[in-house]
Amino acid sequence: MILLHTCCAPCALKCVETLKDERVAPTVFFYNPNIHPYTEYKSRADTLKDFCKNEGLPLIEHGGYGLRDFLALTAESREGRGRCRLCYAERLDTTAKYAAENGFEGFSTTLLISPYQDHESLKEIGERAAARFGTEFLYRDFRPLFRAGQAMAREKTLYMQKYCGCIFSEEERYIRN
Ligand code: SF4
Repeated sequence: MILLHTCCAPCALKCVETLKDERVAPTVFFYNPNIHPYTEYKSRADTLKDFCKNEGLPLIEHGGYGLRDFLALTAESREGRGRCRLCYAERLDTTAKYAAENGFEGFSTTLLISPYQDHESLKEIGERAAARFGTEFLYRDFRPLFRAGQAMAREKTLYMQKYCGCIFSEEERYIRN
């Protein structure tokens, strides 16, 4: 049984399918203090709840909406790669800690499916979190499945977000347009 840190339902689809094909049973772990504003957080959380219910997947929603904590966390680096690395570390450290303390064999993350994330940083930070908390990081390169997963999410009419998550990424998404 592994704990699957999950950013959203569309990214979860193919990750869950792949793990199930490997006979790995994932428990979905929604811990994303980076998702703002609250209405966006709720849309993603509610979509994931419906998805997990339909798929019969166990879901843990951890921490709730975390705007203030996230802003404090990223105060030292508000721009680009530095901010994202802090964001990954917060989410993966928390997932690794929860996995280690609650009897999971290891953890992984649906962030590994996105070609828009810093994949090498995710791998490094996931492995570091595993070593820190004494658990295993199931590294997978899910990226070749990204387009198929997005198409499947559209077919299922799942809510599809327009930006990565934080208010900075929302600005980066729309200020150019
Ligand atoms: S752009 Fe995405 S990964 Fe980077 S800090 Fe914002 S929410 Fe986190």
